[in-house]
Amino acid sequence: DLLVVGSANADLVVGVERRPGAGETVLGGDLAVHPGGKGANQAVAAARLGARTALLARVGDDGHGRLLRDSLRSAGVDTAAVLTGGAPTGVALITVDPSGDNSIVVSPGANARLTEDDVRAEVLGAARVVSAQLEIPPATVAAVVRALPEGTRFVLNPSPPRPLPGEVLAACDPLVVNEHEARVLLGDEETGGTGEPGEVPADPADWARRLLALGPRSVVVTLGAEGALVCDASGVRAVPSVAVAAVDTTGAGDAFTAALAWRLGAGEELPVAAAYAARVGAAAVTRRGAQESYPTAAEVAALDA
Ligand code: ADP
Repeated sequence: DLLVVGSANADLVVGVERRPGAGETVLGGDLAVHPGGKGANQAVAAARLGARTALLARVGDDGHGRLLRDSLRSAGVDTAAVLTGGAPTGVALITVDPSGDNSIVVSPGANARLTEDDVRAEVLGAARVVSAQLEIPPATVAAVVRALPEGTRFVLNPSPPRPLPGEVLAACDPLVVNEHEARVLLGDEETGGTGEPGEVPADPADWARRLLALGPRSVVVTLGAEGALVCDASGVRAVPSVAVAAVDTTGAGDAFTAALAWRLGAGEELPVAAAYAARVGAAAVTRRGAQESYPTAAEVAALDA
């Protein structure tokens, strides 16, 4: 069974002709409200594939919280560990202009109130694999790592990226990053890292090896339409990409990571699980939205190649 620990947000989206500057008001189109947040996205993606999935998260006692619960339940996610209260449900306020560029304000709300005390042994106990991201407090992620039962695998997508303590890095099997996250973790100053300029190598295979040297047991680098790389003590291997007509890549990384965690929990080797995850990611980019775009196992099987 898969336990996802992470965020649940309502994404509030308004299309605008032009994104407003300071002090400016612009009129936009009708509001669209979508269930989102990396934790909820991962849980929905896995459940839709047929994985037995639970989510440990926190939402507010409000309409957005109920929207998220409904979306999770209708995908088949066990919501017994979706906690309520402490603050309003997290929201992302998103304006999108006609060229597709957006401006986003995130209010973490209840996600910031998911604490170490919420990480209970009985929730973790049933999981073969636990998957987390970084839209919840770092101390909560560290508490998850410390509470992992013997033999439970831990998968982390460090998004949004920030420096990770050694105990968290050491637990990752794998650490799953996209290009941006890899650059930040490897300390590229231009992307907000703390390292020397020019320190990040050009070749993604080198990113994978450098990330492995930070301490995780394995690393996966996702490369969008180029597929992915897997890396462990035995070396770096390319995961084939799947050619699809991409419509919207929102949430592709979340679907990839969820599928990967599920297949690893089912006992597959890393390259095999990653190849399946790449097919899930590819299927997810063929439809608009995040959770709305996630495929069933039958849809993944029907993809060419
Ligand atoms: P993120 O969404 O975190 O930026 P990526 O863009 O790397 O992550 O996408 C995650 C995975 O989804 C990729 O490794 C790949 O398997 C799949 N994917 C993403 N974009 C495409 C695409 N245009 N064509 C095929 N597969 C894609």
